[in-house]
Amino acid sequence: MKVLKFGGTSVANSQNIKLVLDIVQNQAKQDQLIVVVSALSKVTDLLQLASQKAASTDESYKEIVAEIEQKHLNAVKELIPVSEQSSVLSHIKRIINHLETLLDGCFLLGELSNRTSDTILSFGELLSSYIIAEALKQNYKNSTYKDSRELIKTDNNFGKATVNFKVTNELINNFYAANESQVILMPGFIASSVDGINTTLGRGGSDYTAAIMAGALDATDLEIWTDVNGMYTANPKIVKQAQPIASISYQEAMELSHFGAKVLFPPTIQPVLRKNIPIHIKNTFEPQAEGTYISAQSISNGQPVKGISHIENITLITLEGPGMIGVTGSSKRLFEVLSQEKINVIFITQASSEHSICIGILNEDAEAAEDAINKAFEIEILQHKIDPCIVEKNLCIIALVGENMKNHQGLSGKMFSTLGKNNVNIRAIAQGASERNISAVINQRDVKKALNTLHERFFEDNTKQLNLFVMGVGNVGEKFIDQINQQKKFLKENLKINLRVIALSNSRKMIFDEEGIDLKAWHSAIENGEPADQELFIKRVKDQNLRNSIFVDITANEGVSKTYEHFLRQSVAVVTCNKIACSSAFDNYKNLKNLSRRYNAPFLFETNVGAGLPIIDTVKNLVASGDKINKIQAVLSGSLNFIFNNFDKNNSFETVVKEAGVQGFTEPDPKIDLSGIDVARKILILIRESGYEMEIESIENESFLPAACMETVNNQDFFKSLVDHAAHFEGILAEANEKESRLKFVAQFEDGKASVGLQFIPKDHPFYNLEGKDNIVLFYTDRYVDQPLLIKGAGAGAAVTASGIFADVIRIGNV
Ligand code: ADP
Ligand code: ASP
Ligand code: MG
Repeated sequence: MKVLKFGGTSVANSQNIKLVLDIVQNQAKQDQLIVVVSALSKVTDLLQLASQKAASTDESYKEIVAEIEQKHLNAVKELIPVSEQSSVLSHIKRIINHLETLLDGCFLLGELSNRTSDTILSFGELLSSYIIAEALKQNYKNSTYKDSRELIKTDNNFGKATVNFKVTNELINNFYAANESQVILMPGFIASSVDGINTTLGRGGSDYTAAIMAGALDATDLEIWTDVNGMYTANPKIVKQAQPIASISYQEAMELSHFGAKVLFPPTIQPVLRKNIPIHIKNTFEPQAEGTYISAQSISNGQPVKGISHIENITLITLEGPGMIGVTGSSKRLFEVLSQEKINVIFITQASSEHSICIGILNEDAEAAEDAINKAFEIEILQHKIDPCIVEKNLCIIALVGENMKNHQGLSGKMFSTLGKNNVNIRAIAQGASERNISAVINQRDVKKALNTLHERFFEDNTKQLNLFVMGVGNVGEKFIDQINQQKKFLKENLKINLRVIALSNSRKMIFDEEGIDLKAWHSAIENGEPADQELFIKRVKDQNLRNSIFVDITANEGVSKTYEHFLRQSVAVVTCNKIACSSAFDNYKNLKNLSRRYNAPFLFETNVGAGLPIIDTVKNLVASGDKINKIQAVLSGSLNFIFNNFDKNNSFETVVKEAGVQGFTEPDPKIDLSGIDVARKILILIRESGYEMEIESIENESFLPAACMETVNNQDFFKSLVDHAAHFEGILAEANEKESRLKFVAQFEDGKASVGLQFIPKDHPFYNLEGKDNIVLFYTDRYVDQPLLIKGAGAGAAVTASGIFADVIRIGNV
């Protein structure tokens, strides 16, 4: 004999009920069945709402009753042949009238007792089981309907009654002995007290009804049919990557369900555990899926952690004070008070000093608990031996569960470091001596992030999801997105990095998609996006609170560079090719570096110098390994190099500068390159990264541009001024030719002094043959004394800059 239970979604409407009937009829060919059904999906919630509204004299409860009635009438019309419908419909109407009378009573009295509430809630299962039994009878004659209230007897703790197993088991056995049907259909959730008053087993309690039946009758199996493929490694609604667990022990399932895995009502396990009856969790909508098998043994899947669960709406109450140390009985008193108030304690932790004890309860119990505790310890509080209890609301418990965790070292370390890296603040922790469960209390707003990162850590081969918020989609930005699109699969398979772009913004429009923007269609999406708004952008990044969030600045905008601080403070990493922040006042640069350290949020800007060349990373490694950078000599402007390499008799200075712009080698404002400011910023950043403190004003910058060119205010005027001063530039070129040298714009740092300027480079110098838009840097250090460390290669261009940004993003993924 088997017991099958079908949950609310499984019986939500006629279509689903037909699936249920198929499953039942199929199984009835082999086994005698007890079939327990829940209320139609959401009906219990609606009944609860209606009763609360009625009790607060809000007449809209009538509309809710009408909605409930309609749901059930529709089901009857679609399940029962027309010829048979009238008696069923009138029976439903009678039940609904009865419900309405009760609600009218609540409305008139303006009151709702727990006892009345239970009677009202019982209508959901009464209606559903009646309809399903009638529908089953149409094709399957060998079935009986039994009202659970006649079999399951409880105390009168309305709302969550305790079962009297002695009486119940006897009633069930007597009934079953006299029964001859192949299928017995019953409502879940509802019971009655020994004196015959309606009670309920607690929300979600239909699972328990089924387990009580299975336990009493020594069923071979208990099957819980629901809307998911079993018990998952985490709540599948929150963790998309969660997987069904094939096999799990009673203890593990109990821990997971106790800590929030709603798929199984926690007390369900007790009645079957004693009899060693396995529980099978199956999906009504995918009956062929394997589901989860819960039994005395858990078959290991090689992973120490079986699942991660969580409970929301938790309040932490801390009781502390010198009066608690070494005084026996404080905890006993605390728990007694809570038990008298019928408050369920979900989480307990006590420091070994006994100085403080901390408990986790549901938010809804917080006020009652606070009052009761402060009252119970009134005298100690007056004498300042104990402080009034501290109440912190809106928290959440997350728990790692697994029988095998005790055999593995360092799991709690991994759990806490994973949370810490994502800036999830841990408020309290607890680990039972059985080591079947490690739980932590965190802020509610971090739940999704915490569950997902822990899931990645323990179940997804340590795959890391990186969530990018990209500002600036010009030349470089576009290339960057192309590169992500192209490399996505490779990164996932080879580096276990799951790269997603959550937001894109240009100066006019922005788009957000928490599931990741489709990178094949982003052009049109951004055109149809909402107006760009920097403040809103920052707020969204903060509110979404996604794990491994990275803000990517691909603009040259000063305003954008000022937002980094906000991101870092939210533990959002910043990757930028915008040089403004790192070359601004030293205090600002230092502050950003400090924030990055404090909030554990990488701040990377490799592309600030030499585009994609690994220059800053090299400096960092030199410094970290104890080397000292004494001198730097470099050609750091790909644009200036391009310009002076192409400027000759046949190509005027102005034409070459324009061409550099067209090819994307200059900043949007070419004066920033030609004035030497851009190079000064770059050498400044190298100097700072080398460990020296310097401001941009201290860098000597002898401009080769005539003052009139410098004074222009827009690009058009600037180009015109280059034409006007053509002779000046031709003069410089002639001098270089005369000296048999080449023109290079060189940045230098030595003896604490820095300068940038145009130099005549002789043939034997390593800079002489620098081609096209290449950059070169020579580092003279304590270890590289005679021969400098040299880095050379393309130092400008959209594709190499994009790949430099890409490399920074991957560095974060590899941390
Ligand atoms: P039923 O109405 O069938 O009793 P429930 O809604 O009570 O169904 O339980 C199933 C739901 O439990 C799933 O749809 C899922 O959202 C939720 N759930 C939470 N945690 C888990 C988990 N670890 N595994 C599976 N489901 C879970
Ligand atoms: N219908 C009840 C509830 O929603 C019992 C159940 O579905 O298990 O809580
Ligand atoms: Mg349920």
